[in-house]
Amino acid sequence: MATPYQRVLLKLSGEALGDGSSGHGIDPDGVQRIARQVARVAGLGVELAIVVGGGNILRGAQFSKLGATRASADYMGMLGTVINALALQDALEQQGLETRVQTAIEIRQVAEPFVRRRALSHLAQGRVVILAGGTGNPFFTTDTAAALRATELSCEVLLKGTKVDGVYTADPKKDKQARRYEELTYMEVLQQGLAVMDGTAITLCMDNGLPIIIFNLRTPGNLRRTVMGEPVGSLVTI
Ligand code: UDP
Repeated sequence: MATPYQRVLLKLSGEALGDGSSGHGIDPDGVQRIARQVARVAGLGVELAIVVGGGNILRGAQFSKLGATRASADYMGMLGTVINALALQDALEQQGLETRVQTAIEIRQVAEPFVRRRALSHLAQGRVVILAGGTGNPFFTTDTAAALRATELSCEVLLKGTKVDGVYTADPKKDKQARRYEELTYMEVLQQGLAVMDGTAITLCMDNGLPIIIFNLRTPGNLRRTVMGEPVGSLVTI
């Protein structure tokens, strides 16, 4: 089936892999549900790279408030993303997909180091490439890693799967007037401080003309619909 995209980058927050209510830990059923959605998309012949977050395990900024040195806490957070990547890899392989995990921090016994050309070669061979370890640098986020990898791997879109239906003018739980943006610009996100992704990630996408789609990953079939170009969630573009 023809899809509008040849190669996409999916950003999965750690929370998406965590327990349904707290967002902490790893929920095997939740990981399996995501793996099934990914398998459907891979079956369409779309090349798929996935950047995994680690907020279900540890966020450096939060942990450092408890007294840890920020850089050390961030390295702990990056290692957390590797744990998530291995959980996702296992679930994807149970769906019959071929996968590779590449990490920005070398952990050779469990994953390949990130090598752009090798990642491209895996994608061309139909393997789902899971990218862990963020950018490999403290003081960054996995959203920025997603923007960076999507750009360097020439992905046509960055799909950010979340637990909400998109970007809203206000918090829909608190404000009945809140409405979802179908489309908005990078500048609107930056100027209004909308909770889409951090400013570094948005700026990188803006500078490289990389569209972002924020969508609800908890709705079954949404990943497929998004990849098929159906109007799901909110599109951030120029
Ligand atoms: N992190 C980092 N550098 C990066 C990416 C991530 O230091 O390039 C650390 C940071 O401490 C962050 C944690 O890893 O809080 C987990 O990533 P993130 O918070 O982006 O995960 P998500 O919110 O997507 O689950």
